Amino acid sequence: MNNYQHILLAADFSDHGQAVAQKARLLANQHQAKLSIIHILDNLPIADSTYGPIIPFDMDLNDLLMTAAKKKLAELSKQLNVPEQQQYLEMGGAALEIVNVAEEHNVDLIVVGSHGRHGLSLLLGSTANSVLHHAKCDVLAVRLQDN
Ligand code: AMP
Repeated sequence: MNNYQHILLAADFSDHGQAVAQKARLLANQHQAKLSIIHILDNLPIADSTYGPIIPFDMDLNDLLMTAAKKKLAELSKQLNVPEQQQYLEMGGAALEIVNVAEEHNVDLIVVGSHGRHGLSLLLGSTANSVLHHAKCDVLAVRLQDN
């Protein structure tokens, strides 16, 4: 089996996401692979034009969320020793963006948690499930159990 060369960690910044991050770092070390991190800011309803002017576009809130996400991404990247050019912050649907960035950057292994902030411990979260279905490369779903 060939070594993985580029591993992409999908980070949702949840508490149990730490176990997923550590697993990705370990694998990257073992395979001497490049490690990248991606975080996706969910599509925000306030920025959604579907409902027209009923919901005003709140630039300040978007900016605040983007700033907070950038800070979290920088902290995790520092902890995992991931350089800036390997940090991806996207907006949109999580699974779709993860798969797209993986393809664009020749990722050969995506690492996700079996569930995230909204998941149940015994079920595969919807993001992990969707990434598994759509990714063209290998996907590792790190099994997470709530205490
Ligand atoms: P979920 O589908 O929300 O249960 O999440 C399952 C896994 O998908 C998480 O453990 C993360 O690895 C990944 N994930 C979920 N949401 C995001 C996000 N917004 N950005 C990056 N990765 C995510």
